[in-house]
Amino acid sequence: MPRRKHSQVFLKDVNYVRKIAERADVSEREWILEIGPGRGNLTSELLKAGARVLAIEIDSDLNRFLSDQFSLFLNDRLFLINDDFLEINLADIFARYGISELKTVSNIPYHITTPILEKLIYNRNFFPEIYITVQKEVAERVVAPPGRKAYGSLSVFVNLYYDSFLEFNIPRSCFYPVPEVDSSLLRLKRKDVVEDLRDFEHFVRRLFRGRRKKIRTLLKSMGYYSPSFESKFHDFLDKRPESLSISDFKDIFRECQAIKNEIQ
Ligand code: SAH
Repeated sequence: MPRRKHSQVFLKDVNYVRKIAERADVSEREWILEIGPGRGNLTSELLKAGARVLAIEIDSDLNRFLSDQFSLFLNDRLFLINDDFLEINLADIFARYGISELKTVSNIPYHITTPILEKLIYNRNFFPEIYITVQKEVAERVVAPPGRKAYGSLSVFVNLYYDSFLEFNIPRSCFYPVPEVDSSLLRLKRKDVVEDLRDFEHFVRRLFRGRRKKIRTLLKSMGYYSPSFESKFHDFLDKRPESLSISDFKDIFRECQAIKNEIQ
């Protein structure tokens, strides 16, 4: 009996399970991370494609089921971890298997979509590509461009570090038990970014504490001002944080990081 508290909603439609595995374009012996394998519907397709799957499932009954079901692959191409994805230390686990990067392919538990996304993004050095099914509205928010109604902090957060694509929708009737919402396969492709996300978030938050002050004043008070900014950023030194786009913030942040590194 599926457990509600773990958002156990299994993707039972074989065509869609295949479509996800195909879209993820898994190659022979490629390492895949699967969060919440459930009864192994997707796991099975990934193994068929020749992948090595590291699957993290919180429910110990399902873990037992999976070890029986896939006993032939166990500890050869399927590695099962009975734990809470949000609690585990990814670096430790990946080091144990000698993994430096892996593709995430998962039909995740929807009640923890945001924390899962945050954990993946905060650990993005491991994750060049992510394929996850999420609630359709969440996928729409992630991919929304500025100016759209769905555009918001989630779009900004994700798209700072990944290009995002809504690959296709999956009707609710393809799941068991049939949920209240439709789903979409979301694809995230890591951008080449060097800054640390937390530093950037902290930086933007600090600027916003003085949302009525001009950028020039704020940068001076933070010890980041350089006369070279006058020509580089003359478009927005007299503006206030509330009127800057994320890309403006990123430009300023990069320069400020450079100044910080020179000082050190
Ligand atoms: N991928 C499967 C199951 C999806 S249901 C399929 O497509 O059919 C979501 C799964 O995530 C369930 O098996 C649930 O037990 C598991 N799960 C829920 N919370 C979790 C967590 N914090 N860490 C790991 N797995 C979790």
